[in-house]
Amino acid sequence: MNSRRLLLVTGGSRGIGAAVCGKAAAQGYDLLINYRSDRDAAEAVAATCGKLGAHAEIVQGDTGTEEGVASIFSAVDRLGSLYGLVNNAGIVDVTARVEDFDRARLDRMFAVNVIGKIRCATEAVKRMSTRNDGQGGVIVNLSSIAAVLGAPGQYVDYAAAKGAVDTFTLGLAREVATEGIRVNAVRPGIIDTEIHASGGLPNRARDLAPIVPMQRPGTADEVADSVLYLLSPQASYVTGAILNVSGGR
Ligand code: NAP
Repeated sequence: MNSRRLLLVTGGSRGIGAAVCGKAAAQGYDLLINYRSDRDAAEAVAATCGKLGAHAEIVQGDTGTEEGVASIFSAVDRLGSLYGLVNNAGIVDVTARVEDFDRARLDRMFAVNVIGKIRCATEAVKRMSTRNDGQGGVIVNLSSIAAVLGAPGQYVDYAAAKGAVDTFTLGLAREVATEGIRVNAVRPGIIDTEIHASGGLPNRARDLAPIVPMQRPGTADEVADSVLYLLSPQASYVTGAILNVSGGR
């Protein structure tokens, strides 16, 4: 019988999500790797995980839509009992002042960064909660240090969405604390991934290094190490916590 625990990572095809998948595979998890658009990248992550001994599958699905969440959790149910959810999929938009935001931008920003995370957590809790005859589990949400800094002049909407992730983490953690489920979040600072290019600033991580107390951007691996800790039994008494992984910023 397979004793490896099943971990679902949303947005696992690149960046922080891909780093979480690789480290989780090395630490004995099986992986369900969600992606939205880049199938080849997701398959490459799955192949890496497979070489590390994991059973790794990929599933396409936009976490900002009901159809996407449904296909992700259909795949979960095909694979077995869900131990962990890393609620990682997230987006920015081009940098802009608040007065230039339009409705479509806000709808998408909150659909992926807030509602998608809440919907994935909802489906995970249904399967994990001892209240529903589940075996318990762990949820780790990817917030951002922007939640406390506000990201003025860049993407205040993104920062506000991450603030909602923080509050959701705290509330859900307390709601399911007696049901075998721990819920925590990490707040990365400036991490060197492709997310900055999607905001129109491909050099953002390096350019902003001087404003970080540690004088450098973080790496996806450094964030992944914190996520893996929160998933692990070493964090058995940690719930409702939000861990800054931001180089002191
Ligand atoms: P990234 O390099 O842009 O990667 C994003 C990943 O999420 C990709 O695998 C992408 O898949 C997937 N994705 C995006 N939208 C999706 C959706 N609607 N449904 C499913 N998958 C989706 O981003 P990252 O820097 O690794 O960021 C990961 C998380 O950390 C996000 O929640 C982000 O807000 C947070 N974070 C990042 C930083 C940073 O500086 N990098 C700082 C603070 C917080 P496809 O390629 O297939 O589209």
